[in-house]
This record gives sequence, C-alpha cells and structure tokens, in this order.
Amino acid sequence: MIEVRNLHKAYGALEVIKGVDFTAHKGDVISLIGSSGSGKSTILRCVNLLEDSQQGDILFQGEPVTWKGEGQRRHPADAKQVLRIRTNLSMVFQQFNLWSHLTILQNVMEAPVTVLGRDKAEAEKTARRYLDKVGIGDKCDAWPAQLSGGQQQRAAIARALAMEPQALLFDEPTSALDPELEQEVIKVIKDLAAEGRTMMIVTHDMKLAADVSDHVIFLHEGRIEEEGRPDTLFGSPKSERLRGFLSSTV
Ligand code: ADP
Ligand code: MG
Repeated sequence: MIEVRNLHKAYGALEVIKGVDFTAHKGDVISLIGSSGSGKSTILRCVNLLEDSQQGDILFQGEPVTWKGEGQRRHPADAKQVLRIRTNLSMVFQQFNLWSHLTILQNVMEAPVTVLGRDKAEAEKTARRYLDKVGIGDKCDAWPAQLSGGQQQRAAIARALAMEPQALLFDEPTSALDPELEQEVIKVIKDLAAEGRTMMIVTHDMKLAADVSDHVIFLHEGRIEEEGRPDTLFGSPKSERLRGFLSSTV
C-alpha cells in the first residue's frame, strides 16, 4: 500500500529524516514511536505529500510519486497524483482540526462533496453512517466546540473515514485528551485495526502501539534505530536508546 525508500527530508539546513525505509502492506498497522523531535510527524506528512522530501522514493499502491527538480527544489510533478494519494491517505491530527464554523455532520460531509464531488444526499448518508460507527451519531447537529475532546477526535476520525481512503494516518490522536477520554478514541482505533484497515499511527501510547500494531518503528534523530513486531520490540529491545526510551515512557 505504502512504500518508502531511503527518504531524506530537511527543513533548510536542518536534516530531520536521514534515510528511512519501510513498507505498509494492505491491512498492516504500523506504529511510529520515538522522542519528541525524532521526525515522526514529518514522516507522516512526507508520506501524504503535505511536505516535500529531498531524496528517496514514496510509492502508493506500487505507483512511485513522480518528482520534478532536485534536492531543496524537488516537488511532486503531477498534481492529479498528489490529490489521488492525499485523498486515499486520510490523516487524523492531534488537535482534531475540525472546522469550527461547520456542524459535526457538515464537517464530515465537506471533503466528500467538495473534493470527491459526491452527491450531497449520498455524502450525508455516508457521514451519518460513520458518525454512528464512532458512537456520536447523536451529535450531527452540534458544533465542534460543544463536544468533548474525545468526541471531537471521534468526529475527526469519522471525517477521515468518510473519504473512504485506502489507509489512515494518525498523528498522536490521543495526546490532546484527558486520560478518561483517551480510552474512547483508543477503542475506535482498535475497532478499525480489527477490521483490517491499513493504518500508520504516531503515538506516545506504548500500550496502544503494543495492542494494535503488526510492526513498530522506533525513530531516533531521523533514523530507524530499531523496528520489529511489538512483542519482540517491547519485550526484548536490543538498542540501548530504545531501552532508555521505553523506561522513560512508563
Ligand atoms: P516528532 O513528530 O517526532 O516530534 P517532527 O517530525 O515534528 O518530530 O520534527 C522533527 C524535527 O523537525 C524537529 O527538530 C522539528 O523541530 C523540526 N521541524 C518540524 N517541522 C518543522 C518546520 N515546519 N520547519 C522547521 N523545522 C521543523
Ligand atoms: Mg509529532
């Protein structure tokens, strides 16, 4: 589904991703863990082409992103390809990013109508179905500010699902939530994993990573320091840095 080869990314002179490789097959759940600033969000943003990268390949369903220019001047060459990839890799952000001037239902209908050109009645039906699925079908007419953080994040997940993407990208989806609200979002993510959805999850929650992932990647300063199955990686970490990281997160 998603393949990244030798990815390099710099912000000006600051090199933040220094040659990263991974593959997410259909149905895989991959978690990215690591200290703040290690490059986790940047990788997700590069994968769905919200950021340019200077070197390396990104393939979506076997189709490589085509680039023009080199190094700091490298950009995707094909706007249609960018749109296709971005609409197929829906992202869920730490801060929910709901539109405050739209109701919950309108938030979920917006992109299917404006980006995918769906019929409004059809988009509304789909939106209601996904809002039901994440347990807030009764909040359709509420404004985002009237919802708890956990409900807002579930609305953001429904919004991502309404695009019927090939994969979901989560960037610290529970970090902005109080512990009691975290659980309702974690339950939704676990349900999605159990359905066999392809997902990449950046998380500080090692229990979530251990519970849902097929593969965990530990990043350190823009490189993969260690990776593997969650039971191996958490059960017998090889790298001193990973052991230090894990002992600091519990
Ligand atoms: P993480 O998500 O693991 O905390 P990030 O991917 O957000 O890490 O950041 C990796 C590095 O890139 C950090 O040093 C951060 O300060 C830097 N960085 C992130 N976004 C930008 C930006 N837009 N401009 C400049 N530097 C950035
Ligand atoms: Mg981040």
